[in-house]
Amino acid sequence: KAGGLDRCAVHEPTEAALSLDKSRLELDLAHAAQRGELYLVYQPYVDLAEGVVSGAEALIRWRHPTRGELQPLSFIPMAEATGLILPLGRWALRTALRRASEWPASTTLSVNISPLQFQQSGFLAEVDSALADTGFPAERLELEITETVLMRDNPETTAQLHALITRGIRIALDDFGTGYSALAYLARLPHHRIKLDKTFVQDLANPATAELIRAIISLARAQGIAVTAEGVERDEHLALVRRAGFTHAQGYAMGAPAADPPELSTPAPRASAS
Ligand code: C2E
Ligand code: MG
Ligand code: MG
Ligand code: MG
Repeated sequence: KAGGLDRCAVHEPTEAALSLDKSRLELDLAHAAQRGELYLVYQPYVDLAEGVVSGAEALIRWRHPTRGELQPLSFIPMAEATGLILPLGRWALRTALRRASEWPASTTLSVNISPLQFQQSGFLAEVDSALADTGFPAERLELEITETVLMRDNPETTAQLHALITRGIRIALDDFGTGYSALAYLARLPHHRIKLDKTFVQDLANPATAELIRAIISLARAQGIAVTAEGVERDEHLALVRRAGFTHAQGYAMGAPAADPPELSTPAPRASAS
């Protein structure tokens, strides 16, 4: 049929062009860090009990020479598939630690760690040397991992989490609730915080969702685990987040990711003169 021929004629070059486009982007990404095209922005999060910014999360951005500003979702999956996430993740951790060394001592730095990076055998050594080289205290570093890491629920994963925790590093479970049997991880694996995904947070006006979330929060808080609401975009969200019992909130309502978040640029007054 003519339609079938048309399809072939149109689709084949498009797919070829698409895959060429993809390999170009891969090549570009391989050089992006050394060309200085990658940078980090920092999004603050608020301690709801204290009413203060208690830290910020580092989020990667790519200023591509011809494509403009690229968000992580347009290149992190590719970086994970090609293994480029390993050098990229190493760069992000070091860069964020260096920057956060200038923040008030009361604040925490959160860094996203991809599953591949976490599972790589040299990961602990990488974290140790980044902390040693920057002098940043381990107690102020929080690593955000996703369920994908925890689903490989093997002795190595647990041992690595314990090794990080022994150093004083805190562990956050990111995008909590988006995967399968998320609740099981609350009991099984050591961590200090869950970050409840924005899809739940933005559905808190729904009584059934609110009830479920309140149950998760009381379960977590009973174990001393902090619970952050992600994606708090509007004041209405914040009111619902407070009512549900979250300990922390993050989202555009409290501050968008920025190269220099104003809340972190000036040191807080010292508790005691020294
Ligand atoms: P994530 O760790 O869950 O980060 C939260 C994402 O939500 C960020 O998107 C942030 O900009 C966005 N966000 C913050 N507040 C709001 C809000 O109020 N409403 C909405 N709709 N969104 C909000 P971003 O920066 O595009 O990052 C996307 C994901 O890319 C991150 O999700 C994280 O999984 C990954 N990522 C970012 N930087 C890194 C990195 O350095 N290493 C690794 N492995 N992954 C990274
Ligand atoms: Mg995160
Ligand atoms: Mg998240
Ligand atoms: Mg998320």
